[in-house]
Amino acid sequence: MSKYEYQTEVSELLNLMIHSLYSNKEIFLRELISNSSDALDKLKYLTLTDEKFKDYDYNPKILIKANKDEKTLTIIDNGIGMDEEDLKNSLGTIAKSGTKSFIESIKEDKEKQSDLIGQFGVGFYSAFMVADKITVLTKKAGSNKAYKWESEAGSSYEISQIEKESVGTEIILHLRDDADEYLQDYRLESIISKYSNHIPFPIFIEKEEEKDGKKEIKEEQINKASALWRVSKSELKDDDYNNFYKQTFHDSDDSLLHIHTRAEGTLEYTTLFYIPKKAPFDLYRVDYQSGVKLYVKRVFISDDDKELLPTYLRFVRGIFDIEDLPLNVSREILQENIILTKVKKASVKKILSELKKLKNKDFDKYKEFYAEFGKVLKEGIMSEFDNRDTLLELLLFKTNKSEELVDLETYVKNMSEDQKEIYYLVGEDYSTLKNSPHLEEFNEKGIEVLLMDDEVDSIIIPQIHTFKEKSLKSVTEVESDDKDIEEIAKEFTSVTVKIKEELKDEVKDVKVTNRLKKSPACLVYDKNDPDFSMQQMLKQMGQTDLPEVKPILEINPSHEIFKKLKDSDDLAKIKEVSTLLLDIAKLNEGMKLKDLSDFTQKVSSLLASSL
Ligand code: ADP
Repeated sequence: MSKYEYQTEVSELLNLMIHSLYSNKEIFLRELISNSSDALDKLKYLTLTDEKFKDYDYNPKILIKANKDEKTLTIIDNGIGMDEEDLKNSLGTIAKSGTKSFIESIKEDKEKQSDLIGQFGVGFYSAFMVADKITVLTKKAGSNKAYKWESEAGSSYEISQIEKESVGTEIILHLRDDADEYLQDYRLESIISKYSNHIPFPIFIEKEEEKDGKKEIKEEQINKASALWRVSKSELKDDDYNNFYKQTFHDSDDSLLHIHTRAEGTLEYTTLFYIPKKAPFDLYRVDYQSGVKLYVKRVFISDDDKELLPTYLRFVRGIFDIEDLPLNVSREILQENIILTKVKKASVKKILSELKKLKNKDFDKYKEFYAEFGKVLKEGIMSEFDNRDTLLELLLFKTNKSEELVDLETYVKNMSEDQKEIYYLVGEDYSTLKNSPHLEEFNEKGIEVLLMDDEVDSIIIPQIHTFKEKSLKSVTEVESDDKDIEEIAKEFTSVTVKIKEELKDEVKDVKVTNRLKKSPACLVYDKNDPDFSMQQMLKQMGQTDLPEVKPILEINPSHEIFKKLKDSDDLAKIKEVSTLLLDIAKLNEGMKLKDLSDFTQKVSSLLASSL
């Protein structure tokens, strides 16, 4: 017998688990059945693809036994089983990336800890909510050695070699005193029918029956064991879909939407997709886990294939079950398979069109979806060309008129006849944007401008180019069309030259324009230079060696300041005003000032002198 320490993350997780106030403890059974079902899937795949297992007597079954005297609950499967390495890798460590930071982030927050079980999917370890000791007996298919794994939570577990006849796994839960309910047949039955009715393998409960005064033990099948996605839509209720969703995709919440499709004819397949209500914890990690499973003729093939759906749909959970694919092809070949390609294409189209339907039918619910996944969906602009229009129709924006979200269609509908372009402004947050000097002219003319405050917007939005033949344009790029401005600018040459001289280290140019109505000055960037939000984005993406990009200072000739400065020769004053103007313009853009105290001092002394 050997003793091992748990990976730190695991012992922290167990600790949280044992002290968790999570009320929905029954889900441990769902998790263990889910593991058994996966193990049966894996063995089935072997029997179909591996010569060595060609004649294997595959007879899938999950059996649940409660022992009231010993207070144990045992879950038995004849799936693929585990060898010693598997045990150490699977029941001593957590492979999920991001686990550490996730656990850190919820450690202090009791309320968030119930997310642990819901959102994170703690799997096997959830059994420690109801058991103070767990024994696993297991033998891997193709091996002649069997093992016992045992742990009383805490920080360690033990593994020893044992004798075990049959291939598969037995999980024995030594139930805690407050978990007696899980010894009752009716309780077990109700949990199984609730969550596991449609996992594709039969689940039995061992029951004791009195017959002619004699006790008899019999096994009773509890679930339907029909793969839910193969059941016809008309026979399924929302509850069926949701329970299957929770069981299969480890969510504690119902899904927001399910999309069940059966295609017959030249291309035969079934897909069942779910849109979750809440984003999974790893949504923004490069190494996020795939949420879709691939089956061929009901045989499980993979659940880690990220190519099944485009990355911008990585929040979708679901199942592809395809008829006409060979079972024993390698992943690489599968990727190029024309049937799979067609099914994938049809599925993306279907998901997007269902989202569009939701948007039109129930905008409030759609906004719920958009709040969680809109940012991710937007990434599709860079890669989705087949369904570009649908994707664009799914985007929502705030505007200078209202914080209520609108889509591009509504925006275009509201455009006045002489407005030719769709205007937008990207920046740090809604309130900075809303007060941006760049909007003054638009506000005055009553033109709606889309305000975008996602970090990715500065990169992604320019890629839209056009929507319904209308081009998108950043308001910072709109040149003023007033011909008189050149004349006016001439009148200000003497002062702009002086300001430019004063600020030459910080700005590329100083220009008089009629963009501004209220503010004295603002910053814009040369057409070929990345603007401020783009620079921020590039920095965030790790580009630290960006050359310094100088903005252009645009000034408002109708502002009192310039009327007064226009013919001034007071260089000291111009100097003071120039730096202040630049600082104010920077603040308006959401930039940080290098020397804030210098700024406040200048403002204060100016205040004092004006009193
Ligand atoms: P997950 O199921 O999300 O991978 P778990 O903690 O529930 O996480 O399980 C960890 C791993 O342990 C599984 O991926 C599997 O490799 C192994 N495992 C758990 N239960 C069984 C079982 N009944 N039969 C075979 N392997 C199992």
